Amino acid sequence: MSPRIQVSLADRLRSLPPYLFAEIDRLKKEALAAGVDLIDVSIGDPDIPTPEHIVASMKGAVEKPEHHRYPSSAGMLSYRAAVAEWYRRRFSVTLDPATEVVALIGSKEGVANMPMAFVNPGDAVLYTSPGYPVYPIGTLFAGGEGFPLPLTKANGFLPDLDSVPAEILRRTRLFFFNYPNNPTSASAPKEFFEQVVRFAEQHNLIACHDAAYSEIFFNGKRPPSFLETEGAKEVGVELHSLSKTYNMTGWRLGFACGHPEIVGGLAKIKSNIDSGAFQAVQEAGITALQTDDHVLSGIRQTYQARRDALAEGLRQVGIEFDLPDATFYIWARVPSGHTSASFVELLLKKAGIMATPGNGFGAAGEGYIRFALTAPVDRMKEAAERMKTLL
Ligand SMILES: *Cc1c(COP(=O)(O)O)cnc(C)c1O
Repeated sequence: MSPRIQVSLADRLRSLPPYLFAEIDRLKKEALAAGVDLIDVSIGDPDIPTPEHIVASMKGAVEKPEHHRYPSSAGMLSYRAAVAEWYRRRFSVTLDPATEVVALIGSKEGVANMPMAFVNPGDAVLYTSPGYPVYPIGTLFAGGEGFPLPLTKANGFLPDLDSVPAEILRRTRLFFFNYPNNPTSASAPKEFFEQVVRFAEQHNLIACHDAAYSEIFFNGKRPPSFLETEGAKEVGVELHSLSKTYNMTGWRLGFACGHPEIVGGLAKIKSNIDSGAFQAVQEAGITALQTDDHVLSGIRQTYQARRDALAEGLRQVGIEFDLPDATFYIWARVPSGHTSASFVELLLKKAGIMATPGNGFGAAGEGYIRFALTAPVDRMKEAAERMKTLL
């Protein structure tokens, strides 16, 4: 067949680095095809199923004809009210469901659309780095200029806000930050959030907190919401996801909440490019947000047992890391003489362990690898054993 047209990708796609997880997926397929008994701790996608009461709620909701029509892109008011109720219960934060909450088709969508709503070509966007790849990519798609703020062991994995040059700050419209943090698993103290509020006020920029891991914590150390901070709702929004909290990554449901004009701007973009989350999913989302805390503490205990099993193995082989208080990741230094990529390759080829190279989350992640606690305890122990043999 002779080609009728010549297909060429838009510059914005051609300028992208390869999507980290697509590359990992390729390596994984290769290993599986070669018959390796692979321990996959590379991707932050819970292996635990969605709790049964949420699945049951979905089964009922999907039968209802009123859910078969177009949803509103901002989300059902009942879902947004359930979000507001969850915030009241969990954080003692008051939100108006009609103006201060918008449903998202997963928080990835919200991250990607924030720059579309608030960034013009030439504007700058700050984000913590290493970090979720969509902060720089969403920025790039909107024609903005990304400015990564490095998270290092030396700065306690908190960005140095004073390090941003004045020339960048003048053009900055938006700041993405994420605690508990993926990939470093660091938590932020409330004082940091207070500092962000002052920073945003001083430089007239939007603070956008990605709180995807606020419910994955250990030993009762409940992470705060950014919106608990005095003045936060006047400068920013918080993005949340049901994905990690309720093992619902495949369902695609999240929300943004906070400053009504920021929520409104995001909703305006969404009303022009998507038609909202399936209402049956939103109804199941309401059920999810009402989940009894004992279900969530069971999930937390599962991750904690895995964390402890892997941590013990890493200690025995002399790999350095900080034991996380939250998230389902361990962020570990690669042994000396290795880069992120060379150590990931060694683990894959010699031990059948698939981890994620830290530099895939940004240059500041070089020298680290990320283990996701998304495989059962016995696999964590097996990974530890294989590393002991290898190292
Ligand atoms: C997983 C993740 C998200 C996105 O989750 P969704 O499934 O799109 O809701 C956002 N931010 C961070 C830091 C994540 O790790």
